[in-house]
Amino acid sequence: MSSYNYDYLDGNAAGGELSKIFAMDVTAAEGQCAHCGATKRFAEAHLYMQCPGVVARCAVCEQVLLRIVNVRQRVFLDVRGMTYLSLDTSQLPGASR
Ligand SMILES: [Zn+2]
Repeated sequence: MSSYNYDYLDGNAAGGELSKIFAMDVTAAEGQCAHCGATKRFAEAHLYMQCPGVVARCAVCEQVLLRIVNVRQRVFLDVRGMTYLSLDTSQLPGASR
């Protein structure tokens, strides 16, 4: 865990917030940055824990990939920084066929 550059964590730190929204583990998913086209595991993103939310930035170009903001009883999810997010369905319960 490096703190010499900017004050960020890796994408795994968003696991708790994301698990409130998604049934699947998004940190294990692959996402493509809409800005530079880099495809990386979400866990490799640079994560900024900024109250009241979480901002994930591309590890390559530092553009915003995803934002989660908690406002009272609502969670706002902004994923426009990603072209796609690709999830492995084999991890779903009962998917072992
Ligand atoms: Zn990028």
